[in-house]
Amino acid sequence: MKLLDGRTAIITGAASQRGLGRATAELFAAHGARVAVLDLDLGAAEAAAAALGGGHMGLACDVTDKDQCDAAVARVLDAWGRIDVLVNNAGITQPLRILEIAPENYDAVLDVNLRGTLYMTQACIPAMRDAGSGSVVNMSSVSAQRGGGIFGGPHYSAAKAGILGLTKAMARELAPDGVRVNAICPGFIDTDITAGKLSDDQRAQVLAGIPMGRAGRASDVAGCALFLASDLSAYCTGTEVDVNGGSLIH
Ligand code: NAD
Repeated sequence: MKLLDGRTAIITGAASQRGLGRATAELFAAHGARVAVLDLDLGAAEAAAAALGGGHMGLACDVTDKDQCDAAVARVLDAWGRIDVLVNNAGITQPLRILEIAPENYDAVLDVNLRGTLYMTQACIPAMRDAGSGSVVNMSSVSAQRGGGIFGGPHYSAAKAGILGLTKAMARELAPDGVRVNAICPGFIDTDITAGKLSDDQRAQVLAGIPMGRAGRASDVAGCALFLASDLSAYCTGTEVDVNGGSLIH
């Protein structure tokens, strides 16, 4: 059964080869969606879209720039006339301690994760409201819930916790319009965001804290995104779904 037949989806930060956005794009495409891959580099976004098969599109979009967000959404609407799903996946992290966070670190991490989620959602809301339906999926993190402890610094935890608050407030405001907004909190997932940046010791320590005993796979997160994007989750809004192998059972 194809869960997104005839639907269109925008996924930010979806060009990264081993990333959560890319895996989500692949699963959405396999379920019949037309996918717009947005990322910083146009060539990478176009290549990722082409790798999904025909009928998808790749666009350059820095989610920290409101004009670029509006322009990318306008391009998708021009081409496809509708946006059913937005996955706010673009994110960066930095392994800093409190006193190491310089103003530019704060700005970079807060802007991509939190400001970008707001701008992209703002850009999509009018079309979703007109359609009377839509699903927004925001990528938070277990770091928001437990105050880091894997890789990202306090500013990353704050940005991802901000995404949870934003998700819930937007869910409340947009529910009467038929637009659902949910968040995913991935735990430790093997992607390039941490690749080569954790020592063997650090990695072993992280794995020791995961009851399922393994790192997550990008496809583990994609499956959750598909659930939240599709009608299977029709009565879910304002939720935060943990995808962490049991590393935060609460
Ligand atoms: P990744 O580094 O593989 O992919 C992130 C993508 O975002 C890249 O393609 C990058 O180019 C893009 N990007 C960065 N800044 C951007 C900007 N300003 N505008 C548009 N795109 C931008 O990372 P990933 O592991 O796939 O992470 C995806 C999301 O999941 C992030 O929000 C991350 O914080 C979150 N997350 C990841 C993990 C994990 O363990 N991998 C855990 C929890 C949450």
